[in-house]
Amino acid sequence: MTTTDDAATALFTELTGCAPAGVWSAPGRVNLIGEHTDYNDGFVLPFAIPHRTVAAVGPRDDRRIRVASTFADEPVEVAIDELAELFPTPTGKAPAVPEWAAYPLGVAWALRQAEGASDAVITGAGLDIAIASDVPVGAGLSSSAAIEGATASALNELWEAGLDRIALARVGRRAENEAVGAPTGIMDQMASMLGEPDAAIFLDCRSLDANLVPVGIAEAGLAILVMDTRVKHAHSTGGYGERRAACERGAAIMGVPSLRDVSVDDLPRAEELMDDVTFRRVRHVVTENQRVLDTVRVLREEGARAIGDLLVASHASMRDDFEISVPELDTAVEAALAAGAIGARMTGGGFGGAAIALIEQDAVQHVTDAVNAAFAASSFTAPVIFTVTPSAGAHRDA
Ligand code: ADP
Ligand code: MG
Repeated sequence: MTTTDDAATALFTELTGCAPAGVWSAPGRVNLIGEHTDYNDGFVLPFAIPHRTVAAVGPRDDRRIRVASTFADEPVEVAIDELAELFPTPTGKAPAVPEWAAYPLGVAWALRQAEGASDAVITGAGLDIAIASDVPVGAGLSSSAAIEGATASALNELWEAGLDRIALARVGRRAENEAVGAPTGIMDQMASMLGEPDAAIFLDCRSLDANLVPVGIAEAGLAILVMDTRVKHAHSTGGYGERRAACERGAAIMGVPSLRDVSVDDLPRAEELMDDVTFRRVRHVVTENQRVLDTVRVLREEGARAIGDLLVASHASMRDDFEISVPELDTAVEAALAAGAIGARMTGGGFGGAAIALIEQDAVQHVTDAVNAAFAASSFTAPVIFTVTPSAGAHRDA
């Protein structure tokens, strides 16, 4: 039992007066490379991080679901039979429950309708769900997939749904897209469900074919630093939706179902056919897909030490072509590289959140100091900096 397990269990006991039937957890993730490629049917290479969200869950003898979180002031309770009235949330509207509760309740709603779920989910018992987490929220490390993955794993077992990990990832995504109303891809949920120690998940977002790629970070004498800029991003608003629209526009102009079907060789033609902004959005996605493929090959053939330039090129593409970086992210990347990082890039959806740097194991303090100093010199809020290692995906803890 971790301290987060203890916190979730304590919250459960405070709520119900008894012990949970079980404790499940799922991690956040860092995307090593492949940003905004997921909803373009492309490739991504995330890994699960040691930070986890925990759900302590037990059955109730009425048909109601109550969710509580250490992040929220009050629990939220609904009848199971009410879920189908609450969700899906109409496009552009806020969920009918407090937003945080739409993640776990949306998972319950989506699980009950999931293809391949056993009939048992329909008669599944009411539940109390207590959630605690040490995943930074809104930092681009996917606390959202972690809360979905922990809840989905718990309900899958307690409701005897019998879904596999990929089906549970889909349930999480559906909750996020349709219950919360955040138009995200499948990457985060797949990383949180499928992670393994020391491996990244090479995911084809079209086929959902997932292959583990050993990253060998520690064995190469390296470490991965996460630099959380503390600039909060919001998926459900603004730039993210605009970028998705630009990608759809670009694919339509190219006459293909998605940008996955456009190759680097097609870019000169794309440039002739579309306006400058749409073209640059397309160029980011197309070159980023290629960089994921290159990173997987380089990791397999040469090892982690050789992927630095690909990380740097990915950041430049997001900054200049996709325009989703912010000064804090650029500062973190530039300061880390100037302090000797092998590679660095912003990670996650952008407009805030975190950057990562691939560094020598013995340079953690040096690079951390350099990034802190650069933030101070620009009068930015101090970043939160820590190392991560590729870790296990969702599982039952107790
Ligand atoms: P990210 O996934 O990058 O952390 P998102 O905006 O996608 O950011 O998801 C963050 C949201 O997920 C929070 O605002 C909250 O609504 C919900 N959430 C995440 N973790 C928890 C938690 N432990 N308890 C309650 N809600 C949570
Ligand atoms: Mg998220």
